[in-house]
Amino acid sequence: MDEIKNGLTLVFTGDGKGKTTSALGLALRAFGRKLRVLILQFIKGGKDSGELYALQKLSKIGKTSDDVGQIELRQLGEGFTRRGTKKEEDHKKAAAEALKQAEIAITRDEWDMVILDEILYAAKFGLIPENDIINLIDKKKGNIHLVLTGRNASEAIIEKADLVSDIKCVKHPFEKGIAAKAGIEF
Ligand code: ATP
Ligand code: MG
Repeated sequence: MDEIKNGLTLVFTGDGKGKTTSALGLALRAFGRKLRVLILQFIKGGKDSGELYALQKLSKIGKTSDDVGQIELRQLGEGFTRRGTKKEEDHKKAAAEALKQAEIAITRDEWDMVILDEILYAAKFGLIPENDIINLIDKKKGNIHLVLTGRNASEAIIEKADLVSDIKCVKHPFEKGIAAKAGIEF
């Protein structure tokens, strides 16, 4: 299909909910169009998420059916938070490993869409140098769609991207003290 030959760089950023789920929506759409989709999560490592369970099933379907693409989710983070107890060094190591996998993924003919979830957040908190993200965009093979998510996309990344959606928070149930819900938040 001609329209999917030229890979795009897409960014989902902003303080509103919907960045990761937008990227996952794209992944679903691409998978349905027989694209091979890799999702690397830079922060999440908890293993307990609805998308992980769903994608494990879809991944099996992808391996046995010619009607769809392939899909794989790798949770490579250590669950970084500002108040977390794990050492910053461990988060940095995890982020560096994720970056290595990202570089392999975007320079080979193994995947058609590569989603780097929370990579912008990893840069914001100094787990990876922002310049490494710029380099990834520059190194990307022409036909691969690269998707970056996380709050606070920098001007330089916005400049490089083909598509940027800045998702604005108007309301969030957390403000009313409503806790995160399975199926909505994770
Ligand atoms: P989602 O994964 O639901 O698409 P997201 O990727 O846009 O959310 P992140 O910044 O990655 O959001 O934050 C992850 C978690 O923080 C999610 O559980 C989300 O519901 C929550 N969250 C997102 N935006 C807000 C907000 N403005 N206030 C409070 N919590 C938020
Ligand atoms: Mg997210």
